[in-house]
Amino acid sequence: MQATINKGSCLCGRVRYEVDGELAAPHLCHCSRCRKAHGSAFTAAVAVKTKDFRIVAGEDTLGDYAHEGVHRWFCRNCGSPLFATRDAMLNMMRLRIAALDTPYDKKPVAHIYATSKAHWYDILDGAPQYEQRPLY
Ligand SMILES: [Zn+2]
Ligand SMILES: [Zn+2]
Repeated sequence: MQATINKGSCLCGRVRYEVDGELAAPHLCHCSRCRKAHGSAFTAAVAVKTKDFRIVAGEDTLGDYAHEGVHRWFCRNCGSPLFATRDAMLNMMRLRIAALDTPYDKKPVAHIYATSKAHWYDILDGAPQYEQRPLY
């Protein structure tokens, strides 16, 4: 069996990454910080092990917006949000799955910070909704 390698890139294509292994199903975060950072109703992310992730192009173009121990990494050329890391948990990271290029069709398993959601957006699927983050 061939090992799974997932590939992703930013909008302009300067930053490219790879993640080894099968990706989990995403959670959607409705917190106000994610909504602002992504310019959207929510962000879709999966937790991956840092050791399974590597930048393969454009590392010098990565920007890091750090706030309260959370680092939101993005492409400084086109602004695409790509992943987030936490000072308190360096072995894991959260991948923003919207930037994946590899086909990925897993459906969301959870809505987190659902009580902070945008008033203009209604959650219409049946995935469980959590007030905060029940897991990483
Ligand atoms: Zn870019
Ligand atoms: Zn969030």
